[in-house]
Amino acid sequence: MSTVDYPDHLACVLFCQGCPWRCQYCHNPHLWAPDSKVLHAWENIESFLLRRQGLLDAVVFSGGEATLQNSLAEAITRVKSLGFRVGLHTAGIRPRSFANILGLVDWVGFDIKALPESCEIITGVSNSGSVNWRSLEILLSHGIAYECRTTVLWNLFEIEDLRQLVHKLHAYGVQRYAIQIARPQGMSPRKLPLLRPMAS
Ligand code: SF4
Repeated sequence: MSTVDYPDHLACVLFCQGCPWRCQYCHNPHLWAPDSKVLHAWENIESFLLRRQGLLDAVVFSGGEATLQNSLAEAITRVKSLGFRVGLHTAGIRPRSFANILGLVDWVGFDIKALPESCEIITGVSNSGSVNWRSLEILLSHGIAYECRTTVLWNLFEIEDLRQLVHKLHAYGVQRYAIQIARPQGMSPRKLPLLRPMAS
């Protein structure tokens, strides 16, 4: 049960495996490769949810990057048929898949990584900035309820970066935005390069 993954709703979270990005602060690096040792049969998930009807309000699909799942639309439809609202946590890594799924969910927690030209520093992937911001445009043009969030790891961000990012998001029309400071617990055990001096 979670009180923080879907605003104002009691929710549970389904963590989907697979993500092609390599964010330095990722808390789920064990889900990067689509070969997780911990798998749950869909029937078990549905029986889990059936036992929680009336107790939970919502189910959040998270990851990894949930929009990479071929059966996501079907899974969302099944969850909604059980009477739950559906949330999606995503960085919009596949804009077309994201656009196709938007009409099915009730709320999106959208991970905006950084200014477009700075995303690669965080994700390690060269076109991630254009992809991330293309999906933001899709989200905003859709009209669905959302929250945009940016995770800040201070060796990757300067205050000025953040100020420019906030101004750009405001210019895009973002109405709901949260900054979350990265926690070291659960990050990848890789030795992270300090791309910028740590803020004191
Ligand atoms: S996009 Fe999300 S799941 Fe993928 S590496 Fe970044 S933080 Fe982790």
